[in-house]
Parts: sequence; structure tokens; C-alpha cells
Amino acid sequence: MSKKSALHISKGVEDAPSINPRLRVQGKASLGAEELLAGIRSGDLAALAQGITLVESSAVKDREQARVLLSGALKFSGNALRIGVSGVPGVGKSTFLEHYGVRLLEREPEARVAVLAVDPSSSKNHGSILGDKTRMVDLGKHSRAFIRPSASGGALGGVARATKEAMILCEAAGFTHVFVETVGVGQSETLVAQLVDCFLFLAMPGTGDELQGIKKGIMEMADVIAMNKSEGERRAAAERSALEIKRALQLFAKGHEDWITPVTLISGLEGEGFEELAQDLERYERHHKIKGLFERKRAEQRLFWFERSLSEGLDRLLAGMESWNTAKAALREQVASGALSPFEAGEVLLERVRRNF
Ligand code: GDP
Repeated sequence: MSKKSALHISKGVEDAPSINPRLRVQGKASLGAEELLAGIRSGDLAALAQGITLVESSAVKDREQARVLLSGALKFSGNALRIGVSGVPGVGKSTFLEHYGVRLLEREPEARVAVLAVDPSSSKNHGSILGDKTRMVDLGKHSRAFIRPSASGGALGGVARATKEAMILCEAAGFTHVFVETVGVGQSETLVAQLVDCFLFLAMPGTGDELQGIKKGIMEMADVIAMNKSEGERRAAAERSALEIKRALQLFAKGHEDWITPVTLISGLEGEGFEELAQDLERYERHHKIKGLFERKRAEQRLFWFERSLSEGLDRLLAGMESWNTAKAALREQVASGALSPFEAGEVLLERVRRNF
């Protein structure tokens, strides 16, 4: 399985679309939720792409259709293995996903691979960090693969939500593996960790900044670590770095899960170490299913999104009330000037809510 020839690596192909153009809906009037769901269920990737666009839409006219589509899709979802892939820009996430995805499809004829991206920068400047996925050329061309760049616009929470909904649609379409790629900076991993079953962190050997990069939070979040770019003469440095990470991991052991985060050497570029990594992921899934942790994690994630959508919804609800805004603006001045304590001001406002204004 470590045959390099199993991988056909395209280089220098520019401007390749991230979604296979022959799968795009062309000239079709936009479909209703029921037709879209039927299309998605039958494996029509154009319908899937259109469905994702619908659930990403913030237009009021689309909300009801999106809701119908999602609630219809929900009962067919949940069967994929959801894997988060994170690491600093340049660590090789796209290269890895391209080659690992193709390898997975070759190895498992029944597998279908979706790649969704969560890129916090894309809301501001259209995916400057994760880019436009032009590197996943071969995977993008594969009939059993689907690649979707990050939803643009809106806050990170909105992008994460759109990704969660895109994942539901991908699962309803029969995808067996959903990879959610995110950049190892900022808060995006925290949200992605709430979307996936297994969090794969890519590190790379070097000057020791992998240890800087893998701060306590990420250590705790990573379920599986792959030391990328470990081929050829980099091997020795990779082994040293992997050892350092393993040592550091002992400090942050996930005692409650009884799972020791494995650190495996891979080369996303050359396709090396993929077999071992696949075993790590399978072992993780098996271990968590046997112990009942897999379903428990999903249940906790559902509750996380419920709480989050409630508090965001409440914020929006209040911000839309004029009396709230007026009272709040007056209190803000008093808080800023020090005339009123922030906590007291908060209480004053909440008391008004209790009394329905
Ligand atoms: P991303 O920003 O994390 O998505 O990283 P990319 O996949 O774009 O890779 C960044 C750079 O690292 C590119 O020039 C890749 O060719 C290179 N790269 C990726 N994986 C490997 C690897 O396994 N070995 C080596 N030597 N280079 C790699």
C-alpha cells in the first residue's frame, strides 16, 4: 500500500475548479427543497452543491426552503466518519487531503470522500489562507469525491454552522468520509472540534516551532497527530519532533477517554505513512465506538450547537428591539464613565427584560 505509483500527482495545473464543472447545475432553475433532497439522495452532486448554496444563503426567501431541506436530510445523516484536519498554513493540509483522499478511494471502492473547508480568513478576504483548493486537482476530478471551499461572508460561527449543515447534506448524499479542513490559527479549531468525530492535527518537523504551534489547547483537542513532510532526509528530524510531541502529550493526557494520541510520521506529498495513519484513524473510531464515547461526543456536540444557537439567537433578538438598544446605549455611557459598575448596569438591563420592558 506504500506504492508511490498508486498516486498520480498533478503539478502545475492552474485554475482548476474546486468542484467538477460537469457536476455543476447548468441553466437549471433553482429546485425546490423536495426536489433537491431527492437529487441529493440519488447522489447527484450538482443538487448537493445547490443544496449547500441554499443552506448557506442568508436571504430571507431561502430560509424556509433551507429549513425543509435540512430537516428532510437530517434523517439520512450521521453515517459518515467526520474528520477534522488542522495545522498551520503551509504544513501541507491540502496536499495531504488530495493524496490521502485519492488513496482512500482507491483502497475502498465503496468510499465516498467529501472535503469541506472552514477558513476564518475567508469571511474577510475570500479564503486567503486555505486558498481556492486548486491543489486538490485529482481528488476534485474523482467521481466519488466532492470538495467545497469555505462559505464566505459572516462570522466564524456562521461559517461553522454552514459547514455543519453542508455536512448533513453530504451525509444524506451518501458520503462515507467527511473531512473538515481548517487553519491552525485562532479559534477555528475549537469550533471544528465540535463538528467532527476525530480531530487530526498535522505538524511538521523543523525548528521546534511545532511545539510552539501545538499549544496546550490544540494538544488537548488532537485525537491523532501526523508529522508531515517526513520523507527522505527529513526523516531523522521528523522522528525527533515526533518524540518531543509524544513527551509533551504525556503532560496533557486525555485521561478520561483512555486514549493515547498517536503520532505517526507521514509524507502527504509522497504518500508515505498513509497505511499507518489509516490504522490510527480506524483504531480511534473502533475504540470510541466500543466504549460508547463516539455517540456521546456527538450528543454533546448537538447540545453545544443548540446552546450556541440559542445564545446567538437571543443576542439577535434583543439587538432588534429598539427599547433594548436605547436603554443599553444610556447604560453604556454610565459604565464607560465609571458612574455605574458594569455588573450593576447588566443587572439593570436584565431586570428590564424580566419585566418585558
Ligand atoms: P496547507 O497550507 O497546509 O494546505 O499546505 P499545502 O498543502 O499548500 O503545502 C504547502 C507546501 O508544502 C507546498 O509547497 C507543498 O508542496 C509542500 N508539502 C506538502 N506536503 C509535503 C510533504 O509531505 N513533504 C514535503 N517535502 N513538502 C510538502
